[in-house]
Amino acid sequence: MECLFCKIAQGEMNTDILYKDEQIIAFRDIAPQAPSHILLIPRHHISTLNDLAGDDTKLMGHMTVIAQRIAQQIGIAESGYRLVMNCNQNGGQSVFHIHMHLLGGRQMCWPPG
Ligand code: 5GP
Ligand code: ZN
Repeated sequence: MECLFCKIAQGEMNTDILYKDEQIIAFRDIAPQAPSHILLIPRHHISTLNDLAGDDTKLMGHMTVIAQRIAQQIGIAESGYRLVMNCNQNGGQSVFHIHMHLLGGRQMCWPPG
């Protein structure tokens, strides 16, 4: 298997998993850009946001709700956080298995870099 995040989803990478269910998993980013930086990914491979299909609406909604729950659990919900998904080159995507970044624990900047 080629894809790094597929390997993480299959448990091949000895990653510290914060959350998992039949659809998604969540784990800490290896190079955190904020005091809290967590990635949520679908278990099955989807390369980019451009590859989402109509029946992925439940998956994406689920991922967002779980991100909110994790934010509550780690204590950043009230102070605030940011959810980010990068697509392709201009979006700054570097791993081509879709993932939602949950970032918090500091003031985020706007506009983003
Ligand atoms: P992107 O740049 O594609 O939006 O985000 C990819 C993210 O994956 C980056 O924040 C990067 O630090 C993270 N990442 C890359 N390789 C690994 C890894 O092996 N383990 C973990 N936990 N995160 C990774
Ligand atoms: Zn993958």
